[in-house]
Amino acid sequence: MNTVITNLDIISEVAAGREEENDQFGVWLKEKDAEEIDRLVHEINERVSEAVDCTACGNCCNSLMINVTPGETISCAQHLTISTETFKEKYIEESQGGIMIINTIPCHFLTEKRCTIYEHRFTECRDFPHLHKPGFTRRLFSTMMYYGMCPIIFNVVEELKEKLGFKIVTLPTVENK
Ligand code: SF4
Ligand code: SF4
Repeated sequence: MNTVITNLDIISEVAAGREEENDQFGVWLKEKDAEEIDRLVHEINERVSEAVDCTACGNCCNSLMINVTPGETISCAQHLTISTETFKEKYIEESQGGIMIINTIPCHFLTEKRCTIYEHRFTECRDFPHLHKPGFTRRLFSTMMYYGMCPIIFNVVEELKEKLGFKIVTLPTVENK
């Protein structure tokens, strides 16, 4: 297993220099067997997730839009010892179709990189970055949006490149005469 990098500054800097490489990787990956890629991603993700402490990171909470279910408004309100109505007034934006999201980005419950309701966080928070689910290649675009921000995604993608033997193709530069 590769050394797992968790320093957000390093990840962000490396990511900025790998845009072309990642674009090529995305195109290259689409040609591969999606189920085999899922199997590999799940295996790598299991190890990487164990090595990354989300409670010391919280970086996704700065930019994710979090969906909340009706049941979660009730249980989180109970945890905060407020009424469900007060919870919704303070923290929820509800669409006409009844879809509820947390009404601030960064999330209300993030304080100095820590989720203050961690044990009661929402399903959407628990599921991110979704690397344990099938369909990695289908979700590649949304996953790679967080490549430079989420240590789990960054490390899983880098190990995946290595395991699959991916190499960036450098096109020769043509000199103008
Ligand atoms: S509820 Fe907690 S884990 Fe979810 S986005 Fe907010 S701070 Fe992050
Ligand atoms: S899911 Fe990624 S960005 Fe979010 S807290 Fe965990 S390591 Fe950090």
